[in-house]
Amino acid sequence: MVISESQSRYAEGWSEADYVGGHPALDFINTVADTGKTRLSDKIGNWDGVRKWAGGAGLLPRPELAAFFQDASLDDDDELARLHRFREQAYEAMLGLVGRTDTGSQSVIDLERSIRDAMGRGAFSEEGRQFRWQPDARSPQRWLDAVALCFEEFLRSEDVTRLRQCTRCTWFFVDRGRGAGRRWCDMRTCGNRAKAEAFRCR
Ligand SMILES: [Zn+2]
Repeated sequence: MVISESQSRYAEGWSEADYVGGHPALDFINTVADTGKTRLSDKIGNWDGVRKWAGGAGLLPRPELAAFFQDASLDDDDELARLHRFREQAYEAMLGLVGRTDTGSQSVIDLERSIRDAMGRGAFSEEGRQFRWQPDARSPQRWLDAVALCFEEFLRSEDVTRLRQCTRCTWFFVDRGRGAGRRWCDMRTCGNRAKAEAFRCR
């Protein structure tokens, strides 16, 4: 997504290249910086990272995000650990959806449970003339709920039919292009590395 000026002050240190998934749910999975098929380089290893990522990702409407930021005392180590667990569980579920693993189906069930739990704690609220699930900003599990409900929206959308994984790294993205389709998360990173390697091999 394109980071607007008003967003950039929330997303200091993060750039457009961090948000190439095409949906905040996928951008959440993509919060590892590994350039290969490992997922060890964590970009949201602390709360500062989580908050800045969320500021640029469009995870929540601005007033809701401001409410999350207002009381940071709720954000503890347990919730950070839950967020990391959920991210890898959602990653496994997406692998299952693109047919890369057969353990994916259990992960999809786990993801569904996280979404149900988030709905149980959240509110179904009207926005304009549409409705959406809204996490409870006073819950200690509010961040987990915010990302789980973001997946709920993603899984019901058309975007899920265009879900792809980068052939080089572990990032996922929505392929909105026509023709042969997009192979890399980002031409500027994985695309260029793949081309450079192909050139060396010739
Ligand atoms: Zn990639």
